[in-house]
Amino acid sequence: MSEPILSVESLSVSYGRVEAVRDVSFSVPEGGMVALVGANGAGKSSVLAAVSGLMRPGKGTVRLDGRDITRWPAHRRVGAGLVLVPEGRQILGTLTVAENLALGAHRRRAQAVPAGELYELFPVLAERRDLPAGALSGGEQQMLAIARAMISRPRVVLMDEPSMGLAPKMVDEVFGVIDKIRASDVTVVLVEQNARRALRTADTGHVLETGAIAHSGPASELLKDPKVVQAYLGVE
Ligand code: ATP
Repeated sequence: MSEPILSVESLSVSYGRVEAVRDVSFSVPEGGMVALVGANGAGKSSVLAAVSGLMRPGKGTVRLDGRDITRWPAHRRVGAGLVLVPEGRQILGTLTVAENLALGAHRRRAQAVPAGELYELFPVLAERRDLPAGALSGGEQQMLAIARAMISRPRVVLMDEPSMGLAPKMVDEVFGVIDKIRASDVTVVLVEQNARRALRTADTGHVLETGAIAHSGPASELLKDPKVVQAYLGVE
């Protein structure tokens, strides 16, 4: 196995005295995909916040290509190819689709994917490029948030709950886009409450329980693990 492109070692994240993440470690090989699943409030978003640089971890180390980036500000991580697609999308509703995408290109302009290429991956955005982003449906806004991250040609994409609040058909579309991103050898860390769907897409899974990793393994095995099925997957 190649060296991990991203590794997280003994990460802890606190909000004041509340320790939201405790001693979490995992790594992702280049081109691989890890799913972090678990109940509401288990600490999944806090892990992504520390990895993307939005929060400073209390303890632990984040490495990109073996380099310690734990103290790097978020924008420097984006420059190095590590981007976050945040929960709740955080698109700018009064700007057009095209303008939102242009903002995504800002940090790594030299590498920016030409808009035409991006619109091939996200045809729905091509049709809506001159509309204000606030006029898009929830699923379309999620596509825009993913596209905005992809325009800077990231090497590692962190996705926080991309299927949240979407109709089943849009959930399929979002996971279809994730498959395409993977096919282009981009490394993905996916946080999802839709655990079954996430584990079906990822190579490796980690189940977080109250801030700590409770189960880890190949995603296909977690999908069959009776403890994981009972607590997180339920019957289909
Ligand atoms: P969700 O799916 O609800 O986002 P999650 O697994 O991503 O859940 P986190 O959002 O990381 O979990 O939250 C982990 C814990 O940290 C929770 O107990 C939560 O209440 C707490 N927490 C999260 N954000 C803050 C904050 N800004 N201030 C205080 N506590 C917080």
